Amino acid sequence: MRIQLENVFYQYDRKPALHGICLNIEQGSLTVLCGVTGSGKSTLLRLIAGLEQPDSGSISCGENDEESARPIASMVFQQPETQLFASTVYKDIEYGLEQHRVPKPLWQERVRSALAQVGLPYESYSRRSPFLLSGGEKRRVCIAGAIAAHPGLLVLDEPTAGLDPPAAAALLDKVQQLRADGLTIVIGTHDLDSFLPLADQVVLLSQGAVCYSGSVDPLNADPGPLYAAGLTAPAYIRIGRTLRERGRLEPQHKPRSLDE
Ligand code: ADP
Repeated sequence: MRIQLENVFYQYDRKPALHGICLNIEQGSLTVLCGVTGSGKSTLLRLIAGLEQPDSGSISCGENDEESARPIASMVFQQPETQLFASTVYKDIEYGLEQHRVPKPLWQERVRSALAQVGLPYESYSRRSPFLLSGGEKRRVCIAGAIAAHPGLLVLDEPTAGLDPPAAAALLDKVQQLRADGLTIVIGTHDLDSFLPLADQVVLLSQGAVCYSGSVDPLNADPGPLYAAGLTAPAYIRIGRTLRERGRLEPQHKPRSLDE
């Protein structure tokens, strides 16, 4: 199932936040949404997750009426660990299942498999207090809570913010695993070095409008759209460019020779 946004507009108190957004998000893909603070990432993520409705334009799923019902979407907000509240990891994840009206007999297995998917074994973690875990573990418990209801779409807002490099790397690893398992994922982030290389689709937002959407490869050859969105190109693009400029990397497209 593909999610389609057509000419989406959204405003806060008559102040436009998103203008004319058109996007396709393919089933099982990883879309990375980037832009400077205030460019509209969180607003767009909430619309994609179905937590807000556009003022005009449409967000739909599938290409025919049977497919048009939205899949369950789960969104993990910035610093989600501030929302952990239960006395155990199990109870925290269970609360989300109850909210999504998942039948009670399925809860234990759902908690077990969600924890396994984020690399936290059930036996060692389910009875622990979420407040006594490391920052990276807390973040992974939040993602387990989001995926336990078997959403069709997982939306993550700044998932690596505030994590130290090893915790961020572990989280990145889990995101890749979830994508390999077939989950459709949309991530809003400033962490271009981590997420751009993994993206099936990169969306650059500038002042509430999409200034680039497509694969990462053209940005490798020409990072202009990143600069236009006010961003710094991530290291692997900068280094690639520097090496190309110094003639130590082949250009992506060799110039045709005159006798061809
Ligand atoms: P980002 O996630 O890229 O930082 P946001 O989606 O949070 O961007 O914000 C986009 C614009 O909408 C900004 O101008 C911001 O000030 C405004 N905005 C965001 N949330 C609210 C709100 N709750 N009320 C009023 N304006 C808001």
